Amino acid sequence: MSEQEPSIFSKIVSREIPADIVLETERVIAFRDIQPQAPIHVLVVPKTGEYATVSELAAGDPELLAHVVGVAQDIANELCEGQFRLVFNSGEKAGQTVFHVHAHVLGGDLAEGSLA
Ligand code: ADP
Repeated sequence: MSEQEPSIFSKIVSREIPADIVLETERVIAFRDIQPQAPIHVLVVPKTGEYATVSELAAGDPELLAHVVGVAQDIANELCEGQFRLVFNSGEKAGQTVFHVHAHVLGGDLAEGSLA
């Protein structure tokens, strides 16, 4: 994601567009997905838009990736008994539509569900 063209998530970070924010730190923002795929569906998004995918983030700023995972756990502790599925779609063919890296935190009763 180029810095010249802010992603929809950068607009949430800057409060240009609203979101149902559940947690914010210095480095990430977390908000409820507008089209939830599970009883709990929160996106954890680094405030920087410089990484498009999780692999770019892992290579460029592994501490920030670890922070994203820690925040996902904190959210799950609050909302779904500390148990969650963490999904990163990487690339168009994997279903990625927003090229500003984000973790999907999915929770609720997923054991019987069809989410892969
Ligand atoms: P996919 O759309 O296939 O899930 P991504 O992994 O790129 O692809 O996820 C983008 C996610 O962002 C989607 O789950 C979508 O519902 C969510 N989303 C898009 N716009 C907003 C918004 N304004 N507020 C909250 N969630 C959003």
